[in-house]
Amino acid sequence: MRILIVEDEKPLSNVLCELLKKSGYAVDAVYDGVEGLEYALSDVFDVILLDIMLPKMNGLDMLNELRKQGISTPVLLLTAKSEIEDKVEGLDCGADDYITKPFSTEELLARIRSVSRRKDVFVSDDQKFGDIMINKNTLKISTERDEIKVSLKEYHILEMLVEHPKQIISKEQFVDRIWGYEFEGEYNSVEVYISFVRKKLSALGSKVKIKAHRGVGYSLEVVDD
Ligand code: CA
Repeated sequence: MRILIVEDEKPLSNVLCELLKKSGYAVDAVYDGVEGLEYALSDVFDVILLDIMLPKMNGLDMLNELRKQGISTPVLLLTAKSEIEDKVEGLDCGADDYITKPFSTEELLARIRSVSRRKDVFVSDDQKFGDIMINKNTLKISTERDEIKVSLKEYHILEMLVEHPKQIISKEQFVDRIWGYEFEGEYNSVEVYISFVRKKLSALGSKVKIKAHRGVGYSLEVVDD
């Protein structure tokens, strides 16, 4: 899961970033409404945490514009106690929920899980490719005969491949989507995770293979042998 934080109070934004990363999310942070809108329009986020009072464009205007352009990413408003009317207006213009500052870590994480589940209502938890099925709630890959559990990163790698059948996905695309812009590791990490996923697919005896296209990226194929 990838989360966008649009919050101009840097100390708060930094705390949120750390917290969410520790909880296993990929996180991007921006500090004004214009940049927030630009990022949000990329439609790669699973949840957006949105402050209301922001420089350049306020959170509600940003949200309005986002919904106008057809982006339905769940939005959780971060509001101050004094902004009750803004909350109501926020829910009217397409926010999914709000949380009042100051909030506890547990409450924030629970709200994030709740709004991201709402998004999933429209998407089945199971995705199929060839003889395998992947499930984002259980993080399991299964065939008719067997199943195996994967880590969150392994799941995301496989999910990207399954969502784009027959397309080649580059290492940079994996990194952008799974690790976020603040990725500081080596692009080799992608290779490492790909090899983990391959091992699990072959342990399952699946005909689905990850094919490497030298210098370009990876694609998912069904190999009959
Ligand atoms: Ca603010």
